[in-house]
Amino acid sequence: MKQPLSLIVGSSILGAGILFSQISGYKNTPIIPGTPYHVHDNERPQPRVVQASGAVEVKPPSDALVLFDGKNVDAWTSAKGGQAPWEVRDGAMIAKETDIRSKEEFGALQLHFEWRLPADRKVSGQGGGNSGVFLMGLYEIQILQSHNNKTYPDGQATALYGQLSPLVNATSPQGEWNSYGITFTPPVYEGEKVVTPAKVTVIHNGVVVQNNEPFIGPTTHKKLAAYPPKHPTTGPLRLQFHGDPVEFRNIWVRPLGVRDEAE
Ligand code: MG
Repeated sequence: MKQPLSLIVGSSILGAGILFSQISGYKNTPIIPGTPYHVHDNERPQPRVVQASGAVEVKPPSDALVLFDGKNVDAWTSAKGGQAPWEVRDGAMIAKETDIRSKEEFGALQLHFEWRLPADRKVSGQGGGNSGVFLMGLYEIQILQSHNNKTYPDGQATALYGQLSPLVNATSPQGEWNSYGITFTPPVYEGEKVVTPAKVTVIHNGVVVQNNEPFIGPTTHKKLAAYPPKHPTTGPLRLQFHGDPVEFRNIWVRPLGVRDEAE
């Protein structure tokens, strides 16, 4: 996201008693309920670094809906409508021009994909290696080149963007593939009231980084998320174009049904 303050501005405000570190972050944002931290707080503790063994490549099971198999972007459209403009090269699709969304819509799901950022790309904080996957088109799990790249922790790889940092930082070195294994359940409403929030589990390179965590509401930037009175039951996956050529491969989804359902 945007760099909110130059160091010069930061140090003049520092004189006014507000502390800024060199990690770009925010202090003029709301406090996240149940925490002492602001939305995008640069003083939220940095997640412990775990050296994972790289992407876990899981082939799609027989009942998966394959959204990208290395060949074309036919399962996707531009978020602005029309043909998805992302490029396919060497079995990967590369973020370009605009967000894309899946033609198919989902509620509860299991999602697998792999991503990487080219090794020669210059990265700094939120800049250079940023994308994201929006579940139901609304709830962002952040994609960020977070190996040796500090940012505000609720904006690093696998964060519930603007809400919750991951348990640990398991991001692969730049240029190497990462895997995300995600399970998601939409919020449950009674009338216009949320009785169970949307929840997500994320396994990053084989490491659990989000363990059935609730979203405060659909993803926002610099604001406190909140659930709307009306909510769709399904929505597309949206992949973010944040100006950076993030590459994706092996994308598949299994909509999650109910137990004991007759075949
Ligand atoms: Mg993002």
